Amino acid sequence: MAKIFVVAEHRDGRLKKSTFELLGASAAAGHETHAILLGEGVAELAKELAHYGAQKVHLVQDPALKLYSAEAYAKAVVSVLKGASPDIVLASHTPTGRDFMPRVAARMGAGLASDCVQVSLDGGRLAARRPVYAGKAIVEVEFIGSGVQMATVRANALGVPKPDTSKTAEILTASADLSGLKTKVLEVVKGASGRPDVTEASIVVSGGRSLKSADNFKMIEDVADVLGGAVGASRAAVDAGYRPHRDQVGQTGKVVSPTLYIACGISGAIQHLAGMRTSKVIVAINTDAEAPIFQVADYGIVGDIFAIVPQLKEEFRKIKEH
Ligand SMILES: Cc1cc2nc3c(=O)[nH]c(=O)nc-3n(C[C@H](O)[C@H](O)[C@H](O)COP(=O)(O)OP(=O)(O)OC[C@H]3O[C@@H](n4cnc5c(N)ncnc54)[C@H](O)[C@@H]3O)c2cc1C
Repeated sequence: MAKIFVVAEHRDGRLKKSTFELLGASAAAGHETHAILLGEGVAELAKELAHYGAQKVHLVQDPALKLYSAEAYAKAVVSVLKGASPDIVLASHTPTGRDFMPRVAARMGAGLASDCVQVSLDGGRLAARRPVYAGKAIVEVEFIGSGVQMATVRANALGVPKPDTSKTAEILTASADLSGLKTKVLEVVKGASGRPDVTEASIVVSGGRSLKSADNFKMIEDVADVLGGAVGASRAAVDAGYRPHRDQVGQTGKVVSPTLYIACGISGAIQHLAGMRTSKVIVAINTDAEAPIFQVADYGIVGDIFAIVPQLKEEFRKIKEH
């Protein structure tokens, strides 16, 4: 049985589903499952971590951790890990996880498999599959030697386990020396969207340059809302000012792996595919039957988004109602 540590991620007082996936994978493989919970005033979240498989929660509370910063997070995680002899450390491959985990790995002298889409924890050895060359190939990685093994894992890659609300965890209050930080986050300015983030959502409906205006994205929002999904966009749509950068999917945007990805009027440039090709089911709508997006799509509709997307919304609405 290995000692597996999961760095919990939370925002606005809520834990991210991707954290539950990692805890569930560790617990299901029968390992000693630890969670590291950082922040200020976040002790209540420890209970929920236990429901998803954490047996021990290492809680570090400090004003410097109230707002996320890579520097403070990395220091705090390392201070927990140093005294705990972990075998494996896992975090979500979110903008946050991909930011602080390389620092943690460097300080621990450990290897890091980033952006994994599959992990195996059998026998306490971490083996993972991760996309390379912008998703054109998948490599299998294993760790050699006896050091600590680390990975960041894409959201939706492992599936969220059923919570067991009868489970409790031992809370280990830890402290970290966070003096001498070189940076301080003063404020986080949030966007106005009430929809789920593209990296977390199990359904993403994305639009491209072909939407022609920010207003036309309303029809993409409508479909996303019927499905309870997130709205994504190609870089061309973002560069044109139709959507904020936080919605951009791709190499220089966010990497998503939802159960369903609907690409509306997106050509499927390699940089876009890099951010979404591991989605479980891909639906593409495009007037050009030769568009590269159809090469990765499970279902393709050759046609005009302005005619098809509103019809799709109606059909989805009917299905939802019944
Ligand atoms: C370094 C670098 C990084 C990049 N990073 C990213 C990234 O992170 N994400 C990203 O998306 N791109 C990225 N790009 C840009 C990428 O190369 C493409 O330019 C971009 O993805 C194109 O966006 P698009 O598909 O919306 O637009 P277009 O390529 O213009 O495609 C529009 C598509 O819509 C179809 N269409 C037009 N009208 C309709 C209609 N009425 N109904 C249905 N279909 C219609 C067309 O047939 C076409 O296929 C990057 C590029 C570089 C160089």
